Amino acid sequence: LTSVDLLIHDAEMLVGVGDDMQVVRQGALAVTDGVITHLGSSTDVSSQVEPAQRVDMSGHLLMPGLVNLHTHLPMTLLRGIAEGVDLQGFLEQVWAEEARVMNPSGTQIGARLGALESLLAGTTTALDMYFHPAAAHQGAVEVGLRHVIGPVFFSFPGPDGLEWYERMALLEEWPATLAAIGGPWVPLALMPHCPLTVGPEYLTQLADHARTYGYLIHTHASENTAENDDTVAAFGERPIGMLQESGMLSLRPVLAHGVRIDEDERRLIAEAGASVAHCPGSNLKLASGALDWVAKQEAGITLGLGTDGCSSSNDLDMFAVMRLASNLARLTTHDPKAAPSVDIVHAATLGGARALGMADRIGSLQVGKEADIVAIDLDAPHFVPLHDPYVALVYSAGRADVSDVWVAGEQVVANRKSTRVDHGAVMDQARAQVGEWYGAAHG
Ligand SMILES: [Zn+2]
Repeated sequence: LTSVDLLIHDAEMLVGVGDDMQVVRQGALAVTDGVITHLGSSTDVSSQVEPAQRVDMSGHLLMPGLVNLHTHLPMTLLRGIAEGVDLQGFLEQVWAEEARVMNPSGTQIGARLGALESLLAGTTTALDMYFHPAAAHQGAVEVGLRHVIGPVFFSFPGPDGLEWYERMALLEEWPATLAAIGGPWVPLALMPHCPLTVGPEYLTQLADHARTYGYLIHTHASENTAENDDTVAAFGERPIGMLQESGMLSLRPVLAHGVRIDEDERRLIAEAGASVAHCPGSNLKLASGALDWVAKQEAGITLGLGTDGCSSSNDLDMFAVMRLASNLARLTTHDPKAAPSVDIVHAATLGGARALGMADRIGSLQVGKEADIVAIDLDAPHFVPLHDPYVALVYSAGRADVSDVWVAGEQVVANRKSTRVDHGAVMDQARAQVGEWYGAAHG
């Protein structure tokens, strides 16, 4: 018998097993030092290991933790402040508010609330973009989220009021900042806001830095038609063209949105090995457009899913995002076979992991990968009967079905409660911060 830290046994089924999304019925897995060491039928695994801790998951489905490939977690505190506006109206309103109220302490409180909302909803990894990245990282890591973030770049002072040289100084210090905060392993990342707000010279400078020091790049690109038009008016190129010319596209950036991308741009993105974070909730709510999921998939682009921030899509629910993504692809192609559920769950797990360059560590249930695991409680009317688990996850499941969550082998949610923080305290802090900004009636 092999000694292991943890045995999770008697799960009704394991889904998202291996690179080909296998399903194992009556399954179990064992974990040591945060890594999955055994996986298979419950009888087989149980007979091979001597666990320090056992968790009985009968009546549950186990899946890889969801990867939210584009969000702005601290914006939880700005939830619902910009309604009835398009992207440009949204940015105008939200940036003014961020410049007025958002400080490092508010950022940390917002990220903590966002990380709690995320983990309780089955998201174990989030690609976050926000000012005061160290404060955001601190807040998210406290709750146990695998939180990918890095310094944000604008060519102008922006809502955080930083000059370019101050942003570069933050970037120089970023590896030490990240190491000092700790938390589950994440790559170094840097985040130009978008080609339009950064400009060609600075994009090239950031691409050089990312190439030299091995940074992941995350940026917004072609979210709506007006952004494309404004970018052409300012620099004579569309966003994807600017990323290509700066040398950034070939560094496999994660492109948020990518709604208004033409056929040539699709080919460029696919050839470069870059990926797109599809955020259907935000794109629909801001009336930005419908992403061409099928065309992008056929072009060979790595696709992930994201919620975007809570002031454009108002929550961090990846189950809602999965259902929207599937339905939107079918509606726009008039094809009910488009975006099959297994592909959607793949995008929300392994696709996102691939986009982050982390597919060797997370994204599927597999021996050798880190134990980022979500348990779904199947004891609910909407899971009866259960034919295809992937269809059930996309079309029947909701975030309230998530009962238990592990990140790198640590149980961070047990029976729908965080093991790290007190829910009431996190919400009270957030309400108090918002009350301070807007008056008690809004807190
Ligand atoms: Zn965004």
